[in-house]
Amino acid sequence: MTSSAQPYTFSSRAKNLTSSAIREILKITERPEIISFAGGLPAPKGFPVEVINAAYDRVLSQLGRSALQYGPTEGYAPLRAWVAEDLKRVGAMDITPDEILIVSGSQQALDMLGKLFIDPGSKVLVEAPSYLGALQSFSLFEPEYVSVPTDGGGLIPEGLTDERVKDGRFIYALPNFQNPTGLTLNLARRKALVERCAAVGLPIIEDDPYGDLRYAGEALPGLLGLGRAAGATVIRLGTFSKVLAPGLRLGYIAAPKEIISKLVQIKQATDLHTASITQMAVHEAVKDGFLTTHLPTVRELYKQQCGYMLDAMAADFPSTAAWTRPEGGMFIWVTLPGHIDSSELLARAIKEKVAFVPGAPFYTGDDAQNNTLRLSFVTVSEEKIREGIAILGRLIKES
Ligand code: PMP
Repeated sequence: MTSSAQPYTFSSRAKNLTSSAIREILKITERPEIISFAGGLPAPKGFPVEVINAAYDRVLSQLGRSALQYGPTEGYAPLRAWVAEDLKRVGAMDITPDEILIVSGSQQALDMLGKLFIDPGSKVLVEAPSYLGALQSFSLFEPEYVSVPTDGGGLIPEGLTDERVKDGRFIYALPNFQNPTGLTLNLARRKALVERCAAVGLPIIEDDPYGDLRYAGEALPGLLGLGRAAGATVIRLGTFSKVLAPGLRLGYIAAPKEIISKLVQIKQATDLHTASITQMAVHEAVKDGFLTTHLPTVRELYKQQCGYMLDAMAADFPSTAAWTRPEGGMFIWVTLPGHIDSSELLARAIKEKVAFVPGAPFYTGDDAQNNTLRLSFVTVSEEKIREGIAILGRLIKES
């Protein structure tokens, strides 16, 4: 029912709300007959259901009253300490627990950082293309986006020209197996990036949900440790979504104390704190090194899935298409010949029961490459990957 006289007035901010292109596509692709390379969901096969079940059991039977009580906004102290210690694995050697804030998924961190740093018209630097969910969060606060150019090696540090960085509030960077491209920033570029940001006083938001899912090549130090050594301000976002399960809604922010204390005030206003029981159960699950045995099985699964898709693409895609070969994570990025619009390709693919995400929504400005698309390979069976890629290959050739 529509009414001509609306009894309410939305904020002007609400006018900036956009529905994520991926969520819209997912509505179509939820139909079981569709072979969907569109979703960004981790593989449920990798969820350690029994370990999590046992952890919740132990927490409820041993610490039930505090698990069901309100807790500190900063997060459950033992989990904060665990995260600070775990960051040594990515080369951040001297992070203290009071530099960690536990959040309800790193998506919440993106929203909180938007609230903290962005005024209408503030300059925010993003990779082109970048994670759609971050753009959706930041856009609520009405920034002016500045695209930083990328190539086959990810973000180009030399692209941080004086003009681009001037008055920038932060740069949002995804150094490992980027969403959407699957690309990884090499060590020289990581160093150049943090050095340049230190020199011009530009804070870096390092979003790293996929770093632990490396199945090829060598692990590289994160921007947090490199940045601290170089004198840059780095705010690192991490999550348990891809290493345990996204339904937990649990992540963290690592940042200098002054930034954490502001974020604590913001989080207080947002949701008081992240669920006590979840924090305690996850700490219980990981505290004795469970991830060191669990992660290799997830990596192996993703490596295998990625291999199925790359093999199928090599067999069925025309040589005029180019694509990334990720060393980890969940995504392959495809660049088609310039005359093919991937949104039009999607409309034809859906008729043949195959789906993917067109590339344009991952860009912020008029630099959108309409001939690109993102493929996710982790939740589809080998047989369906072959079938779906063969159909896409044929449609591309027909274009
Ligand atoms: N950042 C990136 C790059 C992502 O791909 C995702 C999940 N798709 C998130 C953040 C949000 O993850 P979560 O809130 O589950 O931690």
